[in-house]
Amino acid sequence: MYVYERKTMEELQSALKGNGLTLSNLPEKGRCLLTTRDFHPGEVIISQEPYVCVPNKSPVYSRCDGCFTTSNLKKCSGCHVVWYCGSTCQKLDWKLHRLECEALSRLDKDRRKCVTPSIRLMVKLYLRRKLQSEKVIPTTATDNYNLVEALVSHMPDIDEKQLVLYAQMANLVNFILQQPDINIKEIAENFSKFACNAHTICDSELIPLGTGLYPVISIINHSCLPNSVLVFEGRLAVIRAVQHIPQGAEVLISYIDTTGSTMTRQKALKEQYLFTCTCPRCIKLGQSDDIQESAVLEGYRCKDEGCNGFLLRSSDDKGFICQQCDRVRDKEEIRKIASEVKSMSEKALMSLSSGNQLEAVSMHQTIEKLQRKLCHPFSISLMQTREKVLKILMELQNWREALAYCKLTIPVYQRVYPGFHPLLGLQYYTCGKLEWFLGDTEDAIKSVTKAIDILRITHGTNTPFMRDLLMKLEEAHFEASHKLSCKNE
Ligand SMILES: [Zn+2]
Ligand SMILES: [Zn+2]
Ligand SMILES: [Zn+2]
Ligand SMILES: [Zn+2]
Repeated sequence: MYVYERKTMEELQSALKGNGLTLSNLPEKGRCLLTTRDFHPGEVIISQEPYVCVPNKSPVYSRCDGCFTTSNLKKCSGCHVVWYCGSTCQKLDWKLHRLECEALSRLDKDRRKCVTPSIRLMVKLYLRRKLQSEKVIPTTATDNYNLVEALVSHMPDIDEKQLVLYAQMANLVNFILQQPDINIKEIAENFSKFACNAHTICDSELIPLGTGLYPVISIINHSCLPNSVLVFEGRLAVIRAVQHIPQGAEVLISYIDTTGSTMTRQKALKEQYLFTCTCPRCIKLGQSDDIQESAVLEGYRCKDEGCNGFLLRSSDDKGFICQQCDRVRDKEEIRKIASEVKSMSEKALMSLSSGNQLEAVSMHQTIEKLQRKLCHPFSISLMQTREKVLKILMELQNWREALAYCKLTIPVYQRVYPGFHPLLGLQYYTCGKLEWFLGDTEDAIKSVTKAIDILRITHGTNTPFMRDLLMKLEEAHFEASHKLSCKNE
């Protein structure tokens, strides 16, 4: 370990100490974050501003570089690449953007078009490093480039094609920066670090807004059964406990959507984060309850509509046998429905991308009917189809039908997101919103209360989103009591 690196870690360690945390190194996992005291559900464990971040690029709308809003934007008159919502955001960003603006302004029109968010993130990384080394921007124990240096890159595990891509991107970054002391190989390695360490910044309703690098948050390891959750308050990354975490335990969040079977989760983690998960759920791979779980989540339903048994492949491979009632489903019959679903899905995608929402919704409803015949009632693909129908129906402002689909997803959500999970909370919130629109005040109160019970743990109570939600609940209570008093008169 280099001297500066040891010093960086010592400083970080003492900063963490005040938070009831300690940095450790486990032989099989590498760096990890442990607690030195108990944490209660809903308690903030740690929060961090990004070292660098960029908003997502969308063909439809732009976002402010400072706060990610989409309203009242003006293009930076220097580079014509970056947008701001006003002088406050522009001023806060100016030390860094001044250099970026100069660099981007040097580019010709065609090259400027190649400046994707990932390229910008890297350019900003080097500019911020430069400004910190020149002491224009101060460094702290949790905000310095050495922490970025210490992140894993998994370079040896990256395939040739990806390496070529990183090298091309590094060349462009190098061309933009024109700093003589920068090493292209190091830039390429940093792209690999971004791939497994950068976080998608989302709003309170988990809509992706941008990408940020949070080197301290990146130390936190993954579990498919996490004890903590990462949410964002603006650009601030906040880790909250979602269960009681005793002193000496490791703080764990989930890097992926944990709904899939063990095989699916393992594949996603290997592909994007290049490691094999050994969490309590994953070590059960191949055991009988794990096989049952994946047959429910990703398998077929019983021939008998009233039976909720899960199906396993028969030993002669001619069909699938219900493990509850022994009925057999023919492989050919399953194949036929599955191929109908596939061709229908392609058509639905086409009508959605051409903007024909009415056609798209009826196609997805057909897919849903087919999947009900095909998949287990708790199947993830069935749930995802219902999600899509719900989303389009809401865009079409068809509240009544949207609510019916929203309600169908809840039991599956409860099953795949046990305990305090932001997605379950948000789904209750959607339910409540729809009931409110439809004038079902009593039901809306029940749903929003369920939403708040979960979201106060995952999101805290002091964000604008949560304050708004709590106010809505109060409003609903007021309306309900008003309705009641009218009835009594
Ligand atoms: Zn802004
Ligand atoms: Zn500019
Ligand atoms: Zn796992
Ligand atoms: Zn059955």
